[in-house]
This record gives sequence, structure tokens and C-alpha cells, in this order.
Amino acid sequence: MSAKRNETAPQDRVLEITRVYAAPRKLVYEAITERDRSHLGIHGQHEPGQYYVGLSILGGRTSGTDLNRLADLAEEHGTGRVRTTNTQNVILLDIPERKLEGLTRDLDRYGFEYQPSWSRKAIIACTGIQFCKLALAETKNRAGELNDYLESAVDLEDAPRISVTGCPNASSDRTYPSA
Ligand code: SF4
Repeated sequence: MSAKRNETAPQDRVLEITRVYAAPRKLVYEAITERDRSHLGIHGQHEPGQYYVGLSILGGRTSGTDLNRLADLAEEHGTGRVRTTNTQNVILLDIPERKLEGLTRDLDRYGFEYQPSWSRKAIIACTGIQFCKLALAETKNRAGELNDYLESAVDLEDAPRISVTGCPNASSDRTYPSA
């Protein structure tokens, strides 16, 4: 990662995030300057008239029912192409402009977040104690609780990176390859 893209050293980011979580109401937050690369939200593709829609899957935990719904929506409104991101989210590709309204209406109906808060963009969570034999702590529910708190208490324009990890291996730290 170049210094231009990430002007805050990893150890500084940890300190900043600790401060946000510990005392968000008193904090004067110096936003981390790395730009938003989440791909969440509605964005134009290189192809004229085509869009992709990035959905937040908080902590990367979803259900078979929701995955089937997303597959159906991708086929109904686009070409069926779907991608997952390295931040545990999902992107529906090749949505023509005339289909965006119908797609977003369906996403609203099923409760998918396509215009997520800064904290939803920021948070990822490793597997944690439910399925990882190395884990010392639960992560997925805590990621949800943390998000609820941050959404209600902290307003940021730039999203930091928040990794909820279940042990010192830090698999959800995007600075390193994920387990
Ligand atoms: S950081 Fe990695 S090894 Fe540790 S609990 Fe999470 S998934 Fe398991």
C-alpha cells in the first residue's frame, strides 16, 4: 500500500479506532484520509447506462434465503452477475438505468442496505468463536452491536477501518491477507 493511499500508519489507525470506540462523544476525530473503496452504494460502470449496486452485509453474515433473493434480483434486474468484496459485502452488476428504481424498491422490501452508514462501510468481522477453533471471543453479534452504537452516536464523513477480531491472529484486519 502506498503512502499516498494510506497516510496513517497501521498502529495509528488502531489508536484512532480505540479512541472512537472508547469515547466517541468527546472525540475530535481526525478522519483517516484513505478514500472510500467500499464499492457500496449505486455507481456507474464503465459501460454507459450500466450501474452496479453495492450492498452492505454487516459482518459478512447472511442467510441462504437472502443469497437466493440476491441471485434472483441480479437476474431479474441485471445480467445475473454478482461479486463479493474483500470487506464482506455483495455487489450486483450490470443494472441498466431503467431498472434501478425497481431494484432499489425490491432491496428496500427485503431489507438490504444499499446506502449504508459510514460504520457499516467500516466494519468487518472475522469468523469468531461460533465457528473458529482459535477464537477467544464472539465477533459477529458484537459487530452488529458496535454498528448500532456508532450509527446512533458518531457522525463521520470518512470511514475508518474497524476490524472485529476474535483472537490476536486478526484475520479481519484488511492490512493482511484474510484467513
Ligand atoms: S482472528 Fe482469525 S483465527 Fe482468530 S478468531 Fe478470528 S477467524 Fe479465528
